[in-house]
Amino acid sequence: MEFKITVLPGDGIGPEIMAEALKVLTAAGAKFGHKFRVKSCLIGGAAIDETGEPLPKETVDNCLRADAVLLGAVGGPKWENLPVKQRPEAGLLGIRSALGLYANLRPARLFAPLKAASPLKSELIQDGLDVLVVRELTGDVYFGRRFRSEDGNTAMDEMCYSVHEIERIARRAFECAKLRSGKVTSVDKANVLTTSRLWREVVTRVHDEEYPDVQLSHLYVDNAAMQLVVNPAQFDVILTSNLFGDILSDEASMITGSIGMLPSASLGAGPLGLYEPIHGSAPDIAGKGIANPLATILSVAMMLRHSLRLEDEARAVEDAVNAALESGLRTKDLGGGDRSVSCEEMGDAVMGHLTAKK
Ligand code: NAD
Repeated sequence: MEFKITVLPGDGIGPEIMAEALKVLTAAGAKFGHKFRVKSCLIGGAAIDETGEPLPKETVDNCLRADAVLLGAVGGPKWENLPVKQRPEAGLLGIRSALGLYANLRPARLFAPLKAASPLKSELIQDGLDVLVVRELTGDVYFGRRFRSEDGNTAMDEMCYSVHEIERIARRAFECAKLRSGKVTSVDKANVLTTSRLWREVVTRVHDEEYPDVQLSHLYVDNAAMQLVVNPAQFDVILTSNLFGDILSDEASMITGSIGMLPSASLGAGPLGLYEPIHGSAPDIAGKGIANPLATILSVAMMLRHSLRLEDEARAVEDAVNAALESGLRTKDLGGGDRSVSCEEMGDAVMGHLTAKK
């Protein structure tokens, strides 16, 4: 099959990690008989330098025509003093909104060879850890009305959800669960918040009517935060709102060790999605060739799975990452020390394992 992929390398380590991710994508295409037609476009600081704006129209148009979008990272000290709306990060918010992306998927998977990097006790993670946080991305207090009294002594942020917004994110979580172990934990604060009571009601209805075969349970957010560090293995898919998801996905991801390992997907109504590592442009190590490309390579796996519906290909990429780690290779952030491999060496190793004949 043939697919159109728009890539947005961005700033800092963005171009370095993207080069390795594209190597792996091309190798996956050769192995499974697909052609990926890749078009590189400007975003963030790189776009500001070239065109004066963080998200040129040409970039948006290209993304809208693609089957999927792969992003590196944006931002850096060079653009930090610009007004908020002209900064590189505005490009990122702009592209998410232009593509109508309302679901953020953040897997927190502990690769067996990296168990020692987790801050949790080994007995808690002896059977591994593989949690997917499905976070609603366009509602909640982030998009409600805001108020600050004239005397400055009172402030308010409105928390708002509609049935439609909850239904579509719930469906996304149940669909994800069907590809995994078939279990969803919906997290809310229904003992206190009206929006959470609506959330629980709608999630339960969507489950009962459309996904009765998926196992659904509900947890209050305070308990969920606790359970994630006490008994993380009980979770498969965590479905939650924007604010709770923001906090819980960071907590879940840190359980797995380095920020350089964590991919993400942002999805909308159709198959088009935006895939990116959760880390930023890491200006402190940009240009040194030492960045960990695995979060971006794992974002490629998510893209193969969720936008292109190529599950075998996605698993092959994830297995190749595991094999590279199993062989003992470590970038600096993974504790490689004096024997750390470079960004390029790690990319080559994953590509080698992907294309190796079994
Ligand atoms: P950061 O994630 O860029 O870096 C935090 C720390 O993690 C740094 O020490 C960095 O060297 C390290 N790190 C990050 N990714 C790594 C990788 N792949 N391999 C090895 N080490 C890695 O966060 P920050 O320093 O707060 O932000 C830097 C810039 O990135 C800022 O301009 C910020 O606005 C931007 N940012 C962009 C995104 C995005 O594009 N999605 C997300 C977060 C931050």
